[in-house]
Amino acid sequence: MKTWIPDARQFAYLTWKQVEALPKDETLLVLPTAAIEQHGHHLPLATDTLLNNLVLGHAFAHLAPELPIYALPPVCYGKSNEHIGFPGTLSVSAATMMAVLRDLGASLAASGFKKVVLFNSHGGNTSVVDVMCRDLRAEFGLRTFYLSGMGGAKLTGLHAQERAYGFHAGEVETALLLHGTPELVHTEQYTSNYIAQVNSPDVLLPENGPATFAWLTRDIAPSGVMGDPRPATAENGALWLQAAAEKVAAALLAMYSYTNRFQP
Ligand SMILES: [Zn+2]
Repeated sequence: MKTWIPDARQFAYLTWKQVEALPKDETLLVLPTAAIEQHGHHLPLATDTLLNNLVLGHAFAHLAPELPIYALPPVCYGKSNEHIGFPGTLSVSAATMMAVLRDLGASLAASGFKKVVLFNSHGGNTSVVDVMCRDLRAEFGLRTFYLSGMGGAKLTGLHAQERAYGFHAGEVETALLLHGTPELVHTEQYTSNYIAQVNSPDVLLPENGPATFAWLTRDIAPSGVMGDPRPATAENGALWLQAAAEKVAAALLAMYSYTNRFQP
């Protein structure tokens, strides 16, 4: 898999003696969680994994080289059962994913580490990762953090409809890959579907509402796309990547500097 993570930030490139020598109280480890799943007719299965790596790699450019912040190898397989039925989607269950994250947390704690960030770029993983952040804190005393794949970056030029319901393989993901891996974007294969309309007064929403319905992609998006990739440009992809990298770097710095207010 392609990587934008500098070699010096790759945890798995260290020897065990180098790991032993790391300042364990300070070192911040970033565990990417992503997916291998259908992304419409035009984007690769690895889209979320590539985007996670792209953003994290660029975020490192904003962090002082001497800070002990490392990227762990990603958990590429995610909870993607919303996309089952589309060939190529490789999903693990919530229970499996929780078990993997728990076991990795146990290993990190056994190695003496104290701080780990779950850096997630697949929406289907969000609730699992959220649960595991708290469970790793409770079970192993790890100081855990959650960080979303775009770091909450403001994406200038994105329309309200796409901002609200461009869930998957829409303008944002397409623009980022047009910038990052243009050779993997099939620009002649764009399709568009929306799960809901931003101006509709519907009581039931697919997400982010007081009353929601559980959705499967095949219910509403025959092509697998939820959003509209057609307006995507590599120029916006570059801008949004920079915006995300800055937000992610700022969040990582805050996590690195974070100290527990109530315990020494
Ligand atoms: Zn995606």
